[in-house]
Amino acid sequence: MEKKINKVTLLHSGMIVTMDSQNRVYRNGAILIDGDTIIDIGQSSQLLYNYQDHAHSGIIDLQGKIVLPGFINTHVHTSQQLARGIADDVDLLTWLHKRIWPYESNMTEEDSYISTLLCGIELIRSGVTCFAEAGGQHVSEMARAVEQLGLRACLTQSTMDCGQGLPEKWALHTTEYCIQSQKQLYDKHHDTADGRIKIWLGVRQIMNATDKLLLETRDTAKELKTGIHMHVAEIPYENELVVNTREVAHGTVTYLEKIKVLEGNLLAAHSVWVSDNEIDFLSKAKVKVSHCPAAAMRMLGFAPIKEMLDAGICVSLGTDGAPSNNRMSIVDEMYLASLINKGREAFTKGTTDPTALPAETILKMATINGAESVLWDNEIGSLQARKRADLIIVDPFSWSMVPVNDCISSLVYCMRTENIESVMCNGQWIMKDRKILTVNEGDVLLSAKKASSELLRRAGITIPSRMNVI
Ligand SMILES: [Zn+2]
Repeated sequence: MEKKINKVTLLHSGMIVTMDSQNRVYRNGAILIDGDTIIDIGQSSQLLYNYQDHAHSGIIDLQGKIVLPGFINTHVHTSQQLARGIADDVDLLTWLHKRIWPYESNMTEEDSYISTLLCGIELIRSGVTCFAEAGGQHVSEMARAVEQLGLRACLTQSTMDCGQGLPEKWALHTTEYCIQSQKQLYDKHHDTADGRIKIWLGVRQIMNATDKLLLETRDTAKELKTGIHMHVAEIPYENELVVNTREVAHGTVTYLEKIKVLEGNLLAAHSVWVSDNEIDFLSKAKVKVSHCPAAAMRMLGFAPIKEMLDAGICVSLGTDGAPSNNRMSIVDEMYLASLINKGREAFTKGTTDPTALPAETILKMATINGAESVLWDNEIGSLQARKRADLIIVDPFSWSMVPVNDCISSLVYCMRTENIESVMCNGQWIMKDRKILTVNEGDVLLSAKKASSELLRRAGITIPSRMNVI
């Protein structure tokens, strides 16, 4: 009989930021992990006294470092990582028609696998343990990469059943095919990789979805008890088109409310162009919103995040894809979310408000709100007994954070991606002392460079040179 390996780990003598409902932070705290589960959390002296003998080989002295729940990135396009830098500083139509669609429609399954590995490395380095895929072409290959990376993910297929100007290679699928293919992915991958992978339903955006697709997606998600990931109210043109073609007063959110698609399992990415009425609709239906500050600044506009939070909407943070942001670091997004929304206050109200979206709110958005957004807050999002062991260790003793006079604000305003020292997902170290343990980072970088240049060549994408390159 196989001997049961003792996997008990005791982390002690660190600042433990639990993000639990009581906002507990242990100044000199400890956390006990058995396998994939947090068993106990509390004062170091108490846990050392109780468990020192059980955890003999797994005792880690944190030496005053900070432990947080793993961050949750609620809007990522893992398939777009190989497209970093192909659409910088171009107008929206060029972005979509000349760069992103040719790129995505020429992607092979292997490209998707490599792209997800590359993206995953950046996610892990920024302290992410769970992400929500916004929708890509080859979900099985994403799943293969996620399983290997050791991350947790809600994977989604990019789903469209109508729309104009799409690449020839993309035969427009019937509604039936869209639903059936996602059901098959669900059967194949949902709850695999020790429960780390979930399959969600996807709707790319309303301009590529018939009413039939929207309604069947809602019903199928309900039947499978899973979530729906959709880009919502990204640009004014989207709302105008909805007003003109679907006969409602405002835009996408008003229409989704009208046809009863707004539900608590809908993760609405961006939601930038929403009216006060629509904020009310989102709040009443308990729709979750993923705020992607960098991508919004670059491509979309100011989302009314403060208003949504004030209305009780669960707002979390996302990076969006590499061609809309270039950086897949949730650490950067925390910093940006805080600054942009303070700036927006001054812009919209004509007076400054430095108290808007304080650091503790931003930390919630990146942790427990993220967990709620991906319908997983019963297991992740805070450090609590009986939840899964998804956590990160932050080393604050470097030029970027010293002196730490206000620990919580330092995590938002000072912390850099490089301060993330170690990452554990589902009880397994996936990065330790800044070394990724699950995949060979050097090999992934090499194959990504090669795959990206071959893909751009195949897709006929050329990037005009800037300045006087000689
Ligand atoms: Zn997106």
